Amino acid sequence: MKSLVILGGGYGGIRMLQRLLPNELPDDVSITLIDRVPYHCLKTEFYALAAGTISDQHVRVPFPDHPRLKIKYAEITSVNLEEQEVHLKDGETVKYDELVIGLGCEDKYHNVPGAKEFTYSIQTIAKSRATYQTLNNLPAGSSVAIVGAGLSGVELASELSESRSDLKIKLFDRGNHILSSFSERLSTYIENWFDTHHVEIINNANITRVEEGILYNHDEPVSVDAIVWTAGIQANKIVRDLPGEKDKMGRAVISPRHHLPDYENVFILGDCASLPHAPSAQLAEGQAEQIVQVLTMRWKGQEPPESFPPIKLKGILGSLGKKQGFGLLAERPITGRVARLLKSGILWMYKHHNG
Ligand SMILES: Cc1cc2nc3c(=O)[nH]c(=O)nc-3n(C[C@H](O)[C@H](O)[C@H](O)COP(=O)(O)OP(=O)(O)OC[C@H]3O[C@@H](n4cnc5c(N)ncnc54)[C@H](O)[C@@H]3O)c2cc1C
Repeated sequence: MKSLVILGGGYGGIRMLQRLLPNELPDDVSITLIDRVPYHCLKTEFYALAAGTISDQHVRVPFPDHPRLKIKYAEITSVNLEEQEVHLKDGETVKYDELVIGLGCEDKYHNVPGAKEFTYSIQTIAKSRATYQTLNNLPAGSSVAIVGAGLSGVELASELSESRSDLKIKLFDRGNHILSSFSERLSTYIENWFDTHHVEIINNANITRVEEGILYNHDEPVSVDAIVWTAGIQANKIVRDLPGEKDKMGRAVISPRHHLPDYENVFILGDCASLPHAPSAQLAEGQAEQIVQVLTMRWKGQEPPESFPPIKLKGILGSLGKKQGFGLLAERPITGRVARLLKSGILWMYKHHNG
């Protein structure tokens, strides 16, 4: 039997299983999925888990149950490409013939002293739970700083302001306009929403240091009761530690067939892979489809295409609490209730297909 090992049951890993398990798996190939948590996590909803507006169960989907799939729940500590081994924290070693690494991303702290130690995170389900506990246990009128006004910072700030309207929320933004990569109209719409909901936006921020309950903006101390970091991501450490070229986000540079240039049997998936797009769940899923093609063609003894067409992305949708939203669909900006309904609908469909 040949062994295909998939590290990470996130959006990319799950899409691979969905495509391979029904009928694409030859009789002489077995699949092992390794993940630290015993369910597929809907990471795109972690902001709502942290804000306390949805329950833990809402962001979990069971892994598929299939006779050809073995699932191991374990913390992966490293990969040895030469020996074709995955090392687990409990000391076990898992051998592979083909490997897919889809371990997602981690916070990037940009060498800001104290940021890692004194801020909360929404990058894993365990960290989002810890953030939820802290934010929701704060006494009335407490202040919360959210550092980074990208999509996840904006979604967290808006959701939290609806969840705890008594909190004083400060959203620190590096630019002079929130989500400045979007159109002026979208940025203004989001800023107006925050204005109406009493979320303070601090533009042109530069966080230089963090201490317990203190944030230094341009070296000026700002006292707050809790700080959440949403100011950047990098590839999972397992991938950053692999030999070979990485991009600025620590994502592994890959071949057009999505494998490491020197290891044709090691594919890098989703947030771990250096692709010409910002990391997203859609991107991880699109890439998974192409990796499945490479694998299935090879298993049939065929030569996979030298390269693939660019992965088509449908757009971006963000929420502003439970009733309003914003986004870009086919390059066109949308705002308001329709955007929010679309986002909820997509989540519902995803859970329906995977649950
Ligand atoms: C708040 C927020 C909102 C977002 N909104 C959107 C959105 O609207 N649309 C969109 O497309 N994208 C969105 N994203 C980005 C999206 O969540 C990621 O791009 C996507 O999850 C990447 O998928 P992946 O398969 O690469 O990794 P992930 O989905 O992160 O999966 C990684 C898996 O690896 C496991 N893992 C990691 N390390 C280890 C280890 N050492 N040992 C064992 N298991 C491990 C994890 O448990 C997890 O199951 C959002 C992200 C956040 C944080």
